[in-house]
Amino acid sequence: MPDVTQSELQFAGCPLCEAGTSLDPLYTFDRGFGYKVCRECGLYILSPRLPFDRAREYYRSGEYYQSGNHDIGYAAYERDAPCHRRTFRKRLEMVRKFHPGGKLLDVGCGYGYLLEEARNMGYDCFGVDVSPEAVARARKLPGHEDRIWEGTIETVRASGLTVDVICMTDLFEHIYEPRDFLGVCAELLNPGGILFLVTPDTGSLLRRFSGRHWVSLKVPEHVYLYNKQNLSRALSPRFKMVATFRAKQYGYGYFLFERLAALHPIARVAVRTVQYVFPALDRKMFYVTSGSIIVLARKE
Ligand SMILES: [Zn+2]
Repeated sequence: MPDVTQSELQFAGCPLCEAGTSLDPLYTFDRGFGYKVCRECGLYILSPRLPFDRAREYYRSGEYYQSGNHDIGYAAYERDAPCHRRTFRKRLEMVRKFHPGGKLLDVGCGYGYLLEEARNMGYDCFGVDVSPEAVARARKLPGHEDRIWEGTIETVRASGLTVDVICMTDLFEHIYEPRDFLGVCAELLNPGGILFLVTPDTGSLLRRFSGRHWVSLKVPEHVYLYNKQNLSRALSPRFKMVATFRAKQYGYGYFLFERLAALHPIARVAVRTVQYVFPALDRKMFYVTSGSIIVLARKE
């Protein structure tokens, strides 16, 4: 978490509704950060939040993908690589049903694990990420040295590339200007192109069950949290939703135990007991609900 003073924090409104729409307070967190909910559309909005430049600085720091801490970025992105790859493979199988080949861009490509799986399925792959460390790793993918940009989706637009599929997994909730961002996605997509989006779902059972301990109430990273209805609102009129699914993910036992332990002190005691009695479970891979929604949308 970057050092931040109260006076730097910025108040946000609903990006999907008319200016001036009322927000109701939902949860408050340390250092003055809080989530509010739009009365009109139900979108969860981090307000106050970090100014965009400060957030970008934070994602660019080397610790983002290896923070060693479940509250910041990714605790150990590389150690969990087999789980990420397997999850991406499953998700790409869904993409393949709607667009079985062509050029694919992964926005927020991290270390390039999704791109590697997509390449194995025959896609012509490109990626972009704001983290220089992530970009350096993704460029090691054979033949991809000049296909990975350091920057944002605007950097890709400036290159003149157009694609058939845009993937963004665990990215949309970080985007400060969602409508502008989707506008650029529409510009980059060829006619009939597919947008594949995975983002935390405020309509999920996991959110209802976890309350204020929901893992996706992630401050200061997740600036907006959506459900199926407000995603449809954000996508319209440039995109038409063609399918939605409840997202699942592969995770090692220790990762899932950390998430469970964070829910309640009693859960923490139970989880630690199970880990003590069955230590092998920590390294076992599970396929579980992630509390996110998968959306496939076609460019109109
Ligand atoms: Zn709204």
